[in-house]
Amino acid sequence: MSFALPRGCLILKTAPVPEQIPFVEYLQLAPTPHLVAHQCTSCGARFFDRRNACASCFGTSFEDASIATEGTVRSFTIVSFAAPGIPVPFVSAIIDCDGTSVRGNLTNVSADPEHVSLGMKVRLTTYTVGADEAGTEAVGFAFEPAA
Ligand SMILES: [Zn+2]
Repeated sequence: MSFALPRGCLILKTAPVPEQIPFVEYLQLAPTPHLVAHQCTSCGARFFDRRNACASCFGTSFEDASIATEGTVRSFTIVSFAAPGIPVPFVSAIIDCDGTSVRGNLTNVSADPEHVSLGMKVRLTTYTVGADEAGTEAVGFAFEPAA
């Protein structure tokens, strides 16, 4: 079976867009990167890991809740020692994202107390953790200063 293209029709060949998969289950990449928590339908408590029961009320029903992509640094630690291969120092922080606590590292900021402070405004960002032979990228998240 033949297939005729209309005259003047161009076939554009583009490089394949690498497929991306989130590094953690609670990171969603589309339409824009954001975190999704499991929210207890009884009391509203939010959890990022999978739960069979709510730690606050023992409820067993959960729904997905999108988490704000901007927040403030509520607590942070400058990590100076890590496993081999992990660059130090880096900043591990607890971010208050509109009432939901999120654990994440800070990026695009110097890892020292002059550049990181409590109450600092940050926003979610993503980075490539690595890629396999097929070019599929694993995507992780971090927070960067929301200047
Ligand atoms: Zn609950």
